[in-house]
Amino acid sequence: MMRALLCSLIVGSAGAAPSAQADADAPVRDAILAAVRARMGADADVAIDHLRVPAASAQGPVQARPDPGARLGRPMRFALRTATTVGPAVAWTATAEADLRVRVPHLHTRRVVSRGDTLDEADVAIVSHEVEGPLRAWPAAEAIGRSRVLRDLGPDACLAPASLAVLPLVSAGEEVRATARVGEVVAEGRLLAADRGDRGAVIRVVNPRSRRTMKARVVGAGTVEVIHD
Ligand SMILES: [Zn+2]
Repeated sequence: MMRALLCSLIVGSAGAAPSAQADADAPVRDAILAAVRARMGADADVAIDHLRVPAASAQGPVQARPDPGARLGRPMRFALRTATTVGPAVAWTATAEADLRVRVPHLHTRRVVSRGDTLDEADVAIVSHEVEGPLRAWPAAEAIGRSRVLRDLGPDACLAPASLAVLPLVSAGEEVRATARVGEVVAEGRLLAADRGDRGAVIRVVNPRSRRTMKARVVGAGTVEVIHD
C-alpha cells in the first residue's frame, strides 16, 4: 500500500516538471490567443508552436498587444503587460515572441470572377485553411452578397481581405430593423442608421417620426439592437 503510494508520488512529481514551465507561460499564451482572436475573429483557430517569454513576465493575468508590423508566417512579437483593474496602468514593458499558425474560415471562388463583380452564393464557397499576412479579419459568410471583387480571379482562388471591398453590415442612411428590450418585452421597429458599422459596433440610429437619436449595437446585416443608457 505504502509502496503504491510512493510510486504514485514519484510519478506525480516527475510528471510535474515539464508542465511547470507550460503553466508559468499559460497567462502569456492565453493573452496572445485572445489578442489574435480580437483581430482575426472569434472563430479563428490559433495554434502557438513556439513561445519565447521573458523569465519573470508570467505572473497573474496578462494582456498582449501584437507589434504593428506583425505578420503570420514569420515569428511575431507581442508587448505584454499585467492586466489590472485597480491602481495605475502597468506599462507595456515585457515582450514575448511566438510562432503562430492560424486557420480561418474564408471565401474561395467557385468559378471565374471579374473585377467589380458582386459575389453571391453561386460564386463562392467557405473554406478553412492556414493563412498568412497581417492579423486582420478575413471576409467569410457575412461578406456574401455584400462584396465586390477587386481583381480578376480564376476558380478556387483564395479571397484574402485585400482582394475584396466589403460593405459594412449597416451603412449610414440605411433603414435598419431595430429591436429594443424592455424587461421581458422585445419591441421591433424600423429606424434610420446615422453611422456605418460592422458586428458589435455601437452606432447612432434615428427614429424617423420623432427625430429622436439613440444608440444601438449592430447585430447583423441591416439589424441593430437599441442600447438603453
Ligand atoms: Zn484560402
